[in-house]
Amino acid sequence: MLFDTAKISVDIVENDCLIRKNISVSVLRLDKIHPVASGNKLFKLHYFLQDALASSQQGLVTFGGAYSNHLLATAFACTAAGLKSIGLVRGEKPDKLSPTLQACIQYGMKLHFLSRAEYSNRQADNSMNQFQEEWKNFTLVPEGGYHAKGAAGAALITQLIEEDTTHICTALGTATTLAGLMKGAKKKQQIVGVPVLKGMTDIDKRIAYLTGTPNTATLLNDYHFGGYAKKTPALLHFMNTFYEENNIPTDFVYTAKMMFAVLDSVEKNVFPEGSKIVCLHTGGLQGNSSLRAGTLIF
Ligand SMILES: *Cc1c(COP(=O)(O)O)cnc(C)c1O
Repeated sequence: MLFDTAKISVDIVENDCLIRKNISVSVLRLDKIHPVASGNKLFKLHYFLQDALASSQQGLVTFGGAYSNHLLATAFACTAAGLKSIGLVRGEKPDKLSPTLQACIQYGMKLHFLSRAEYSNRQADNSMNQFQEEWKNFTLVPEGGYHAKGAAGAALITQLIEEDTTHICTALGTATTLAGLMKGAKKKQQIVGVPVLKGMTDIDKRIAYLTGTPNTATLLNDYHFGGYAKKTPALLHFMNTFYEENNIPTDFVYTAKMMFAVLDSVEKNVFPEGSKIVCLHTGGLQGNSSLRAGTLIF
């Protein structure tokens, strides 16, 4: 890995319900790799970075919105790898850049703003054909690392997980991390995904595209809390109590929904007695900066 994985810890979650049901839940703290670059994003970028370095490309060019964890992770990862980075940002340039985009610039990323129509055209084309001369020697990374290469990088996460683990859980956006877990896990380990978007109906298709194999993951579908980046008082309350009890901060877009889903499902007997569950803390904590000050206790 190009990153320091020594900081990753495995934190045990404790509550009475888990003891009663003889289930262990722990959190693989990929967020500890870096304070702002999401852990799973760095894994998804692994082979893109490696290939760009091996073929003497100048850097990576990729897509994202104004609050994209993927853009920020790409900016950071490229700097760490000694590569350049270009971010194609969805929407016209605003008067004031989001904290995420400001951080991207700090990590040396060059930003280009595209209208929504142009953005989706370029993304659908998924090639460098229409790109300007100056971007010729850049490797294109699809938004969110949504590519077999991204899934192969995410599969490396399973090397950090103990063999007797029965379930590996992750929040799911593009499903690339989920696909990687499916590829890397031991046969008897069940992969569990928590979609953070409302009404995702194409997950099987996504897994087939990313892995070439059918989807064998279990999905916990009712924990999107209204949709992508939506939140409820119950979710924010959960984040504060979870932090109080376990000293683990979560983000409201991904990891809080995943942890809520897993603990709620334990209570509802979705997991058999004796399960040993590992939840990925994929990071994303920088996204909490969009919440009103005082909302969270951490
Ligand atoms: C992007 C992201 C995810 C979702 O990963 P996918 O591979 O797109 O499904 C989960 N958690 C965090 C913090 C993320 O930034």
